[in-house]
Amino acid sequence: MTRIPERYARQARFHGIGAEGQNELAMKRVLLVGLGALGAAVSDQLVRAGVSLILVDRDYVEMTNLQRQTLYAEQDALAETPKAIAAFERLKAINSDVDLNTHIADVSWDWLRPLPHVDMVLDATDNVDTRLLLNDFALERGIPFLFASCVGAYGMNYTVMPGQAPCLRCLMRHLPLAGQTCASAGVVAPIVQHVASRQAVETLKYLTGRHEKMERRLLIEDMWENQSQRLDVARLVDVSCKSCQQHEYPSLVPNRQQTALLCGRDVVQVRRPIEGLEPIANQLERADVSVKRTPFMLEWRWRNHRMLLFKDGRVLVHGVDDTHVAAAMVDECLGA
Ligand SMILES: [Zn+2]
Repeated sequence: MTRIPERYARQARFHGIGAEGQNELAMKRVLLVGLGALGAAVSDQLVRAGVSLILVDRDYVEMTNLQRQTLYAEQDALAETPKAIAAFERLKAINSDVDLNTHIADVSWDWLRPLPHVDMVLDATDNVDTRLLLNDFALERGIPFLFASCVGAYGMNYTVMPGQAPCLRCLMRHLPLAGQTCASAGVVAPIVQHVASRQAVETLKYLTGRHEKMERRLLIEDMWENQSQRLDVARLVDVSCKSCQQHEYPSLVPNRQQTALLCGRDVVQVRRPIEGLEPIANQLERADVSVKRTPFMLEWRWRNHRMLLFKDGRVLVHGVDDTHVAAAMVDECLGA
């Protein structure tokens, strides 16, 4: 057995993990999708614990994030640094021992399919479509998927264990998953930390092989109203579920969602094939549009709307909630 690095001494001393568990952690890799409030909190805990991560996020840091997204600072918001980049720098500074792979991208089946082996998938997203995609991806690979969600002071945790219990698609009929968002109902930081801690501890249990210790119930917490529930959902398996029962995985379809309204933000994301940022910047400038360049994206205004273009061809159009209007504006800019 390899010697335990000093930085993990207290964790390896804990009876539930031990030196053996610590060595297990060093060999595992987790996919964490989303680096908002939840993703920031859970990645901080896991990286300190010695877990290697694949991180992915499609967004950049804004001032409204700083109240709860603990990996980021004012400078990141001022520079509009992509969350994947700001998180990577912070996490690498916290623990240079672990392997971190970061991606500025919108998760799709095309993006997920070529991924190397991961031991589990953690949900830190803000929308149902991506959660169902991750649910199906994890089931198809036969690995656990840790669903988590927070809004207001209310949070939920549930672990989908392949072949053992209902999956997220089974539970969709019973859970209040759509509706309020952090933008519409707000969110307080403590519930985020609470839900993230539950995700982190279940991750540690699974990765160290202590599967018998894992929480199989659906956990619901309202920290403001002082209410919590632990629901036994085992009997909620939907026998016609296309994900966990029929193994058809309806969310694993290529090139889904060319255009999408981002969660409660009046921002539409439009995808277009591009060949680098610089040709587009030059083209816009020839049309007298003033373009701001960062190492990761371009920013400009078009008919009073703020537009951001990432290297992977995603354009964020601010101040619209109509996907067709946004797509038309993007085509005007990129085809200009
Ligand atoms: Zn199911």
